[in-house]
Amino acid sequence: MTSLPSPGLGRVAAEAFVAQHLAHLACDGVRGSGSFTGGQVAADSKLAAFDVTGYATRRNEVYPPSRRGASRLSPYIRHGLLSLPDVWDHVAGGPHRDVEKFRDELLWQEYARHWYARFGTLTRHNTRHRLPGSDLAAGVSADKGWSRRLSCLDLALSELDRDGWLVNQTRMWLAGHWTVREGLRWTDGEDHFFRHLLDGSRAANRLGWQWVTGAGSSKPYGLSRHQVERRAPGICTSCELRDACPIEGWPRDPVLEPIERVDRIHVAPSVAVSSGPVGVVANKTPDAVWLTAESLGHRDPALSAHRDLPVLFVFDERLLGSLRLSSKRLVFITETLAELGVEHDLQVSLGDPVEILAGRELAVTFAPVPGFRRRAERLQPAELHPWPWLRRPTAGPIESFGAWRRSLGC
Ligand SMILES: Cc1cc2nc3c(=O)[nH]c(=O)nc-3n(C[C@H](O)[C@H](O)[C@H](O)COP(=O)(O)OP(=O)(O)OC[C@H]3O[C@@H](n4cnc5c(N)ncnc54)[C@H](O)[C@@H]3O)c2cc1C
Repeated sequence: MTSLPSPGLGRVAAEAFVAQHLAHLACDGVRGSGSFTGGQVAADSKLAAFDVTGYATRRNEVYPPSRRGASRLSPYIRHGLLSLPDVWDHVAGGPHRDVEKFRDELLWQEYARHWYARFGTLTRHNTRHRLPGSDLAAGVSADKGWSRRLSCLDLALSELDRDGWLVNQTRMWLAGHWTVREGLRWTDGEDHFFRHLLDGSRAANRLGWQWVTGAGSSKPYGLSRHQVERRAPGICTSCELRDACPIEGWPRDPVLEPIERVDRIHVAPSVAVSSGPVGVVANKTPDAVWLTAESLGHRDPALSAHRDLPVLFVFDERLLGSLRLSSKRLVFITETLAELGVEHDLQVSLGDPVEILAGRELAVTFAPVPGFRRRAERLQPAELHPWPWLRRPTAGPIESFGAWRRSLGC
């Protein structure tokens, strides 16, 4: 275990911190995102500046960026700097159609979290269809599946590389191209996204890939020039392949082989276990607040209850070593921690969280991911605070968004 110094404020200090302490865990050279800064101040000002007006019409626009209507809040939502209920409330009073559409997307995020909380690592397996390519060897590199000679793919990949973020539409382009056109394994593409996206989560990322590729939906999404010209007018004119476009026509739909529906509810943990406590579970008096990457906000429930206790954060060395995330995400997290260090006695470490935190009386917020449950079982927190769900999970249907939504009456 290594005790790390508290990172200093700002991009330069965060990059220096990552370069000195975490560079051996990243998949690329140390550089922060070109357009996102970590921290509560950035999260709150992005939310305050977001006007939902026009969202329904412009959410899917790609290029030029001035046409886009997406909120760009996802990195902050992903790391718990903004909760879904906060974001939901923020758009109240906006134009009805835009509010409905935006809240619908927030429900997709909530659905992804319920789905992942219930099924955990099983979400890496196809839920509805076996796809061609399932038997390919794992580990195909990004340049094999996504040709940079196509301006549309290059636009998306450059943004992913520079900013660690993509609009939903280009996520669909890349995922559809990787699987439906190139016949590659969706799990390799999903790993690439997870590594490079600031908002990369196994919940929304796996759900997105399963949905686009047909692994978890009834119809795969195949990229063709038509969508590019519609959502990114003008981009094809600069493409070296504009007169020999390999995605001119619609791709042939892959033959989807249905998977016998297995009732995985029987192998999943109970809803009470996977969704965490309804109220605060207080066993002992805490002596520290443990923050996880799922909930790094100043309004984290455990932190809000104990503002004067030391705040502990552990970079999980073994996990990060196996994930090999982009340094953009490590810089984003470091910027967030640096801000927390201004108001709190922040103690940052590198190593195994269970070993480092053992013996502490921890107040922590439940996180609906299997890694948290495993560690919390061993650490037995002194105080467990509930996750701020938008809709509390139930034992109801979860195999499709529509059925899930109906069962919750939303
Ligand atoms: C292949 C693929 C992979 C994806 N991987 C991720 C991922 O790793 N992490 C992630 O947060 N989202 C993921 N998404 C969903 C979605 O693309 C992003 O949430 C969205 O593009 C983020 O940009 P935004 O904040 O501007 O979204 P907005 O359109 O402004 O939506 C607001 C919020 O709603 C939620 N949301 C919007 N669309 C979706 C969706 N389809 N599924 C789940 N939540 C949604 C997000 O929290 C988002 O921040 C993926 C989608 C696809 C098709």
